[in-house]
Amino acid sequence: MAATATYDLRFDAGRLCLDLVATVGGRLSEEPVERLDTPERLRAWLAGAGLVPGGTGLDAVDGGWLGRFHAARALLHRVVHAEIAGAAADPDLERLNGLASTAPPVVRAVRAPDGTLVRTGVGAPDCGALLGRIARDAVDLLTDPVARGQLRQCEGETCSLVYLDTSRGRRRRWCSSEVCGNRERVARHRRRAVESQAS
Ligand SMILES: [Zn+2]
Repeated sequence: MAATATYDLRFDAGRLCLDLVATVGGRLSEEPVERLDTPERLRAWLAGAGLVPGGTGLDAVDGGWLGRFHAARALLHRVVHAEIAGAAADPDLERLNGLASTAPPVVRAVRAPDGTLVRTGVGAPDCGALLGRIARDAVDLLTDPVARGQLRQCEGETCSLVYLDTSRGRRRRWCSSEVCGNRERVARHRRRAVESQAS
């Protein structure tokens, strides 16, 4: 039985670039779930990931943005998995470096009426600048020996999600104990029930 991945957006991979890769669920199942399937969903992801300050107008996000985010996500997926298994291909590294070379979005700290400082953007958000920030996060991650050492691939049957294991003892086995961990526990329970019936 193929477990179905949920459509919910997740932000628990531990790094921005990995959270983008995690917008495809159940990659190893017969029916992977595309969580960034509309510009509306991309807007929700950008806000949820904290890539744009709260209240930023995201009207410019359209199908063109979606296509560029999908392409960047496919690239990040290839690079991260290849680096875990060995080494990413040179052309992919060049593509990643190309994405990372775009100037980051400009942000400012502005005093709100209640005295707190709030982050605001300058001008309309730019797709290339936002992708640049994600790509630089991947560059930082892959060139940091400590962070690299924390990269893990989920052991879930249909999940290949990569996350940062910052748990004590580095023994985290799943992208999420509520999702893949729970699914594994249920499957184990079911197997045991079948075995005890058979004996
Ligand atoms: Zn998983």
